[in-house]
Amino acid sequence: MAIPGLNWMNFLGTLEATSRLQELGGGDRLENVACNLCGSAKHTPVYAMPDRLYFREEFFTVVECDQCGLAFVNPRPTLAEMQKYYPPEYYLSPPTASHSRYLRRRFTEEAKYLKELENGSGRKKLLDVGCANGDFPRFMAARGWDVEGVEISESSQRITDFRVHTQEFQDIPVNEPTYDAVTAWAVLEHVHDPMAYFRKASTVVKKGGFFVFLTPNYHSLASRHLFCEDIPRHLYFYTRETVRQYLEKTGFALEKEVNGRKIYKLAPMNWLTYMMKARLMGKEYTYKDVPLSSKEFRRLNNLPGGIVTSLKYAAYSPASVVDRMLWPAIETAQILRKSYGVSTYAVRRL
Ligand SMILES: [Zn+2]
Repeated sequence: MAIPGLNWMNFLGTLEATSRLQELGGGDRLENVACNLCGSAKHTPVYAMPDRLYFREEFFTVVECDQCGLAFVNPRPTLAEMQKYYPPEYYLSPPTASHSRYLRRRFTEEAKYLKELENGSGRKKLLDVGCANGDFPRFMAARGWDVEGVEISESSQRITDFRVHTQEFQDIPVNEPTYDAVTAWAVLEHVHDPMAYFRKASTVVKKGGFFVFLTPNYHSLASRHLFCEDIPRHLYFYTRETVRQYLEKTGFALEKEVNGRKIYKLAPMNWLTYMMKARLMGKEYTYKDVPLSSKEFRRLNNLPGGIVTSLKYAAYSPASVVDRMLWPAIETAQILRKSYGVSTYAVRRL
């Protein structure tokens, strides 16, 4: 008996995929996805690691697309399931004087990418995607910009001094070239559909205007080898090459790429244990080889902060202490070779 509209081969394929997911403990919480950049379904696993922040028993796999090289978490939590990985405390930042000094320094660095646009006449218009509590747009408003933001988390509800869109960027009700600049600081690694973000930016940025975004650099030890990515909140991992392909498909030209630690940092934590095991001994370096961070060590052993705990940690992992002492030298070398963990791209709408 034929059931109209039901293709049995597809149906069986779906069943098979579903049971595979359930073996993984996914059920309908996880989904398998094709490559967001080129559409290929062929990819190769690179590493597995847990959610180090909130659910340490949940492991995720990062794969690399065989065709274009884009790296992404697969299978990944569905969009509905993601909420669980962003508890309220994720959005908290310390209301201290040193934190506001840090923000001021960060915004000053970020504003440098928009300086060229400030030269012409008339007020310029900025859209900041992922604007959190709105501090960066406010900083730019003080420099004379008309500002808007996009923010889907609850922190957007407190913003009343400028317009904030509370849906995902691709869904905002703006569909023509409107902004001189769109910024997205540490956003594109979090989203479920980066291509939709690039396309939307291409739609709403004026010709000659800028899309500026910062994201972890997958061509770095920290992102690719040292398990420093914030998974599964980070779902996509870009290199200069995969960014170039996104730009080509969506009508942007690369203006500037800056690899460095001035805006956000991603320290090469545990580069020394990695070098010893992977490079010196030629063995695979997996998540179980990663020493606990000092914070994890303290929490697991229920220790107070202070010098005694620091000494205990040094005894637990002497390599971590040497590792840390050498960060400045390693980071400087990485920045010179453009292989530090964070990159900022300024791209121009063609
Ligand atoms: Zn691909």
